[in-house]
Amino acid sequence: MTLDLKKIRQDFPILNLKVNDKPYIYLDNAATTQKPVEVVKSMEAYYYTQNSNIHRGTYYLSNIATQAYEDCRTVVKEFLNASLCDEIVFTKGTTDAINLVANTYGKKYFKEGDEIIISTMEHHSNIVPWQMIAEEKGAKIRVIPITDKGEIIFEEYEKLISEKTKLVSVSHISNVLGTVNPVKRIIEKAHKHGIPVLIDGAQSVAHMKVDVRELDCDFYCFSGHKIYGPTGIGVLYGKKTILDDMPPYQGGGEMIDIVTFEKSTYNELPHKFEAGTPNISGVIGLGAALKYFNNTGIEKIARHEANLLDDATAKLLDVDGMKIFGTAPGKASVISFIIEGIHPMDLGMLLDKFGIAVRVGNHCAQPLMTRLNLPGGTVRASFAFYNTIEEIDVFIEKLNKSVSMLK
Ligand code: PMP
Repeated sequence: MTLDLKKIRQDFPILNLKVNDKPYIYLDNAATTQKPVEVVKSMEAYYYTQNSNIHRGTYYLSNIATQAYEDCRTVVKEFLNASLCDEIVFTKGTTDAINLVANTYGKKYFKEGDEIIISTMEHHSNIVPWQMIAEEKGAKIRVIPITDKGEIIFEEYEKLISEKTKLVSVSHISNVLGTVNPVKRIIEKAHKHGIPVLIDGAQSVAHMKVDVRELDCDFYCFSGHKIYGPTGIGVLYGKKTILDDMPPYQGGGEMIDIVTFEKSTYNELPHKFEAGTPNISGVIGLGAALKYFNNTGIEKIARHEANLLDDATAKLLDVDGMKIFGTAPGKASVISFIIEGIHPMDLGMLLDKFGIAVRVGNHCAQPLMTRLNLPGGTVRASFAFYNTIEEIDVFIEKLNKSVSMLK
């Protein structure tokens, strides 16, 4: 069974965009994905027919909006195969979710001399929040090295674990290398030592089946906008027992139980972590995106994306001076590359002139660029299930043209 690409592309109006009379080719899906009509319509319908504040109204409109919002929590719970809706906290995105854990879990449990393990390939949002709390607490960041292919060196990870380790936080899939990290093994190993693990799922949920119970991770986060949903909404999954013992993140309405000027008590999960009026339309849009994604089917999506990756990799390797970074087996549909003698920025700008959107730079992973000795960063093409082999052909043709113009 394959995807009906013609139909799928009609679901994403932006894919009809033409620039200079040529079809625009969007290959920056690791940065953000495009949105199907159903997602935008769900948000429009919310504003036109359900808009009201949630959880506190006693009237019809507030009740249906609350129901719609909480129904989406159930959609997310099922999507991740979490046990309970209480374990699903809506955040602004992955960055916000990691900051939440750093500022609550980290604030309560980290102390001087403790260590937090991350990997060399982390996005800045899985580095900086830990550095900030580590600095405050006198804790230290320890970094798992990677091979030249872009894989975590497991034995080095094992060596880093000690009685000082308070948390392990790694990405499921690298946004630069496409490496799918062995997170189940990483979690098993940490748990043997009683250490909790956070998985940054920003790049994984849109490309593979994620089952938080099967993984047994303690925290898992992702962003709605990378899985065909709106920006400004994301998810923190946390095991109930752990979330229950964490202090709240932000103070305000909704997260409280009883407030007096002397002291306040806090609401139950998940509301304890959702202070203030939440991004209601964002949650509705995320729910619609996950339903659209489920209906399309992860197996078909993964197969098509693997074809795109294989096809693009083979054709890119034929380009003069090509060097691809991230060659781990089973990698996701992200290709980072440089062309000898050409600055990635020049390539990106020329490709843009030809109507092709690729990402250029350090991809919010400066320490990884340092490890790979890439001061100018890379060009990154990342594919979604609506991309086609024909688009790859045009991309390669324009890339070759750019290379001959720049050399
Ligand atoms: N982690 C990874 C691996 C990412 O790719 C990204 C986004 N590029 C993030 C975290 C941050 O996601 P957001 O900006 O949606 O919070």
